[in-house]
Amino acid sequence: MTNIDLQAQPHRRFNALSGDWVQVSPHRMQRPWQGQLDPPTVETRPQHDAQCYLCPGNERAAGQKNPAYEDVFVFDNDFAALLDDGRDSQADTESPLLRAAPVRGTCRVMCFSPRHDLTLAAMQAQEIETVIRCWGAQVRELRPRYRWVQVFENKGAMMGCSNPHPHGQIWALDALPNEALREQNTQATYFADMKRTLLRDYVALECERQERIVEADDHWVALVPFWAVWPFEILLAPREPVAHLDDLSPLLQSSLARVMQRLLRRYDALFSTSFPYSMGWHGAPGEASADHWHLHAHFYPPLLRSASIRKFMVGYELLAEAQRDLTPEQAAARLRQLPAE
Ligand code: ZN
Repeated sequence: MTNIDLQAQPHRRFNALSGDWVQVSPHRMQRPWQGQLDPPTVETRPQHDAQCYLCPGNERAAGQKNPAYEDVFVFDNDFAALLDDGRDSQADTESPLLRAAPVRGTCRVMCFSPRHDLTLAAMQAQEIETVIRCWGAQVRELRPRYRWVQVFENKGAMMGCSNPHPHGQIWALDALPNEALREQNTQATYFADMKRTLLRDYVALECERQERIVEADDHWVALVPFWAVWPFEILLAPREPVAHLDDLSPLLQSSLARVMQRLLRRYDALFSTSFPYSMGWHGAPGEASADHWHLHAHFYPPLLRSASIRKFMVGYELLAEAQRDLTPEQAAARLRQLPAE
């Protein structure tokens, strides 16, 4: 018996953080890499767009006017998916087959810059640092009141984001959503056994192997995880355990800004396009102990082969489990070859 050849044989890989499996089919990637098939997309936008509801000084749908903000700006979502109305409803226990539970929460929008034409990738490291500090301040304010605070950015029309103005969202709620619950369980189990966080050990192991690392400095590591589902998926985590986004020291904040900037510029260079993705932070839930939780960000970009050819999660993936052809090692190697400046 020999070990599986991870670059040649079909196999499944286990996601230690989510508990899911993913199928990898590297034998389907024998054809040579086609590279970029579309001409580079050069989109020019004005610095200020009178029609944009996120630009400074403009009016939003419900009639409020944005202030003349100069760096970041946070406001309550005018069409919030969660409400904080304080009504005390009970779980519906009529039948175990028709379960419903109340949920209370708040949704905010955060503009990353007053400039309509920028993206995080195009911003200066110091401006990204301002975004990171604002994320921390939001988490610090919301964390005592809600079990889960989800900071995220949905970027690009391909991801269903209707407005190109650089912005993200913050949803906070009094329940643990599915992804949080899964990572809570895997990390708590690992910590109970090993007395170290799962991601501290995982990041250290990846730094030894090097083959999946895309960007790293003394404090942060960005890598294509062994178990990645999306072609150019990234896991970004500090080398040493940190529980919450608002626990980052100034040193970790400035280091993170530079690592994110370099990563996002590699992304943009990959298919010569402003790279679409969903990204978000997973910090410890608002529970008593957070020793087991290791802060991290996930980047889930849909693009596969060019600025227009994307991966779809359909068919087998919808009905059985996720599958990929390009291996995570090949994806990391491609991202490493690109300019980060
Ligand atoms: Zn996570």
